[in-house]
Amino acid sequence: MKIICYRHQEYQSIADILRLYFQEIQIDEENNGIRIEDNSDLNEDCIIVSEASVAVSKTQIRDQKDQTEIEVKTFVKERDLYISSRIFPNALRREIKRQMYFILSSLLNMTYPWGSLTGIRPTQIALRSYLENDHDLIKAEKNLTDYWFVSKEKAKIALETAISEEKTLQKTDPNLPMLYIGIPFCRTRCAYCSFITRDATAQAGFMDLYTDALIEELKQISDYMAKKNKKFQALYVGGGTPTALSDESFLKLMTTIKNEVPLIKNAELTVEAGRPDSISQSKLESIKTLGEVRICINPQTMHDRTLKLIGRDHSVADVYEAMAKARKLNFDAINMDLILGLPKENKEDFLFSLDKVLELKPESITVHTMALKRSAFIEQKYNQKYMALRFPNQELSEAFSQSVNILKENNYQPYYLYRQKNVRAGLENIGFAKKGHACVYNVGMMSDRISVIGLGSGSATKIISGDLVERLYNPKDILTFSQRISEISQKKIAFMSERDI
Ligand code: SF4
Repeated sequence: MKIICYRHQEYQSIADILRLYFQEIQIDEENNGIRIEDNSDLNEDCIIVSEASVAVSKTQIRDQKDQTEIEVKTFVKERDLYISSRIFPNALRREIKRQMYFILSSLLNMTYPWGSLTGIRPTQIALRSYLENDHDLIKAEKNLTDYWFVSKEKAKIALETAISEEKTLQKTDPNLPMLYIGIPFCRTRCAYCSFITRDATAQAGFMDLYTDALIEELKQISDYMAKKNKKFQALYVGGGTPTALSDESFLKLMTTIKNEVPLIKNAELTVEAGRPDSISQSKLESIKTLGEVRICINPQTMHDRTLKLIGRDHSVADVYEAMAKARKLNFDAINMDLILGLPKENKEDFLFSLDKVLELKPESITVHTMALKRSAFIEQKYNQKYMALRFPNQELSEAFSQSVNILKENNYQPYYLYRQKNVRAGLENIGFAKKGHACVYNVGMMSDRISVIGLGSGSATKIISGDLVERLYNPKDILTFSQRISEISQKKIAFMSERDI
């Protein structure tokens, strides 16, 4: 099968849709096209044309003003399958994806729950729909289902979550940044992980070096903020697994945060304790030095056999123990993560885990769908069935829908939603929280409306000025990060200062 583009060069936008259906995609810019090699259902002669009525440049696509309407159409040669629309060039990317989705879903008779929306933040489109339709939920839902081909169920949850996200954002101050501190170590590597994390047990020497560098960066940035008389409105210590650090290093980090980081009164503080086996009494006491802190204890599943299979090196009993210790120390904002679609788990297995987690009464629960990342060991292990795992799957979709209903019945409401690429069954991740427990950092970080200063190896600093989003990344390599920390901190301070943060 071949795709030919006329008068535009949006090969990557088209490829985003093609990856929903095919594994091998070859972009051939010289011949204005894309070739699909591993297609068995369509013959070699199948040619899809994606065409703009006038040539559209990349500058016109980025330009927000001065737009003249153009016609965009997609059709299959020698078949009666055709879609067209009149749009402004700055809407070209989404429109091309929408049309390509329509053509492929019709040709292959396969639809995805999120239709043509392949981006990580479908709630942004839901919110726009809601606002453009004067807060009319029915019209907004119709726009999502009829125009973007989103399923009715996903349109409803997208709108509900988008409105909740907006309410959370309304309570924040867009001028105050949030702070992210990253710890790239874990006790063992989960089978589905593609993060830069390192094995903590084999990296004891590295961990101390890293913590010292991180503390140096933390002090430099805090000092800069204090001198500018600016404060952070939320702080998130994530990873990896922050609690994988030694007791001593972890306490040093918590104490530095307590003493150095300028925070607004009642700033939201989160520490991702993460893997239950790393959550000791001493780690929890160190976290408590910060005051009221939201923590995450992440079982992912409540089945020991799956934990073993995915290499998490902890047991379900560790989850109960970590929860009991945390409650004893009066932690009253605890999040728990679960993953739908783990290897060898079916719908009943997932709903059992959800039930067990609900019995523990955490203040928030995040339901993730397993993503099949390129570098993850799981992709190699399941290579033969890789595409099939990503195709729509009724059982997983039902498990997700039921979990949404169960969570709502238990007074957990969806408060943020995002999607990942190559996710099982084309599903999503949703954070649910009891009243008053929506995590501001999670919503703000996804929104592109609040700046985030990222510390630690591989972390991103994202500064928002109006519609402009600018990013600066720390080196991913732990040694490079640790050895060049002074230069890295100065570069970040200059980046912040030039943008008036
Ligand atoms: S806990 Fe998270 S970061 Fe660590 S190995 Fe597992 S998935 Fe990766």
